[in-house]
Amino acid sequence: MPFRSKLPRAGTTIFSVMSKLAQECGAINLSQGFPDFPVDAKLIAMVDEAMRSGHNQYAPMPGLPTLREAIAAKVERLYGHCYDAGSEITITAGATQAIFTIIGAVVHPGDEVVIVDPAYDCYAPSVELFGGKPVHVRSGSDMRFDVHAVEAAITPRTRMLMINTPHNPAGTILRDADMRAIAALLHGTDIMLLSDEVYEHLVFDGEAHASSIQYAELRERAFVVFSFGKVFHATGWKTGYVLAPRDLMAEFRKAHQFNVFSVNTPVQHALAKYLADPANYGGVPAFFQAKRDRFAAGLRGSRFRLLPCEGSYFQIADYGAITGEGDFAFAQRLAREHGVAAIPLSPFYKEPPEHQRLLRFCFAKQDSTLDAAIEKLCKT
Ligand code: PMP
Ligand code: GLN
Repeated sequence: MPFRSKLPRAGTTIFSVMSKLAQECGAINLSQGFPDFPVDAKLIAMVDEAMRSGHNQYAPMPGLPTLREAIAAKVERLYGHCYDAGSEITITAGATQAIFTIIGAVVHPGDEVVIVDPAYDCYAPSVELFGGKPVHVRSGSDMRFDVHAVEAAITPRTRMLMINTPHNPAGTILRDADMRAIAALLHGTDIMLLSDEVYEHLVFDGEAHASSIQYAELRERAFVVFSFGKVFHATGWKTGYVLAPRDLMAEFRKAHQFNVFSVNTPVQHALAKYLADPANYGGVPAFFQAKRDRFAAGLRGSRFRLLPCEGSYFQIADYGAITGEGDFAFAQRLAREHGVAAIPLSPFYKEPPEHQRLLRFCFAKQDSTLDAAIEKLCKT
């Protein structure tokens, strides 16, 4: 059947490719980002209870009111701005669906969307599917946000800027000065912001997460995206949410209602209860920081050189001292011959830097998994 692909350059995502390879060759899977430890039994019991008490039919289209209220309270407590639970918060089937629906709702054919590479892999294809034009700029050489590169990419057709903090795959964070620079850049324009903050609680070394929500200039033009998968170690539940000012959210919901309509009801009931107690997420930064530190300390005896990890659950490692192979070839060999699966960095770029030799390791794993991987990586 002859047809014209809308995504002619896309293959299967690197996350599926590497997890499959890890499974096939029995490698320790530090590739795709998901925890290998259990979800809190208390939360599971809440889902169970919700199902048993009959919460098994469609939730309201924008999400369960109690969950939206719990989110509004949490966001106000953390970031000092109160989103209206009725009109400015929508529950989504994870952040990926949120991002897709945001772009579908507001990007018109020919609109330019500025994406900072390396960038999470769903951004550019989502823009392309809706006829937008991804305009790729590069982070600085230290994987830091480069506001001047973004400024240079802005044209009268720029409709949206996409940012991500803490950053996947780089493990860097945006700080107050970065947020202020972005606010200054967008001031007086009609450019919207998509702020991907799914790792909001994974910020280390005592730093605070700088959210777009805290900056009026950003907040007023922003869709801010979150995922419960990251906070509660339940990536398979595919539940997240979007915050946006009323007019932007109304437009989002027009698309959302025809995209997924509504999201898993019993999980929303459980999350509404669980989220109400800040103790259920307060320990997340220290928990992951200890894992980052364990992994980094273990690799000190290896030939991998680690880049700074300020946030997220990813550690970037330079393998240039081991081989000159390209990152995909080395990632495959590392899985097959050395028993550890990681993610090559090049799929996160439109044009990967030619001489870059970087892999991304996910440290959201049990200590025993990390220790077993460390042993293998030290022999590589
Ligand atoms: N954005 C980033 C930066 C991510 O790392 C991920 C997934 N890990 C997502 C979005 C998608 O999140 P979800 O699994 O909730 O769709
Ligand atoms: N976000 C996860 C990662 O970065 C993967 C999610 C997915 O497989 N789509 O590894």
